[in-house]
Amino acid sequence: MHEMSIAMSVVEAVADRARQEGCSMVTGIELVVGRLSGVQADSLRFCFSAAARNTPAEGAELVIEEREASGVCDACGAQFPLSGYHASCPECGLFRVRVVSGEELAVKSITIE
Ligand SMILES: [Zn+2]
Repeated sequence: MHEMSIAMSVVEAVADRARQEGCSMVTGIELVVGRLSGVQADSLRFCFSAAARNTPAEGAELVIEEREASGVCDACGAQFPLSGYHASCPECGLFRVRVVSGEELAVKSITIE
């Protein structure tokens, strides 16, 4: 499952970070998930609690910030919100849209003790 491997790498990253800082517990994790990343927030949350079991991240509060996607047209330069890939430009109608944001999947911050 896509979300499971993401959850596991997030847990690994924050556990590493906690170890580096000499901390034994991660109490909070903030994630940024773009609309086009293909990740379901609910599903990620579910997978996270399973992946975090018996790690320093167990019981951490997971906050997922979903970010809207936006694109820019390579033909006319218009910028607009994107609802998905394969969008056409609302200004000129061409399919030369570049994704500017919405694909991100990153750990924004973690709280450790
Ligand atoms: Zn255009």
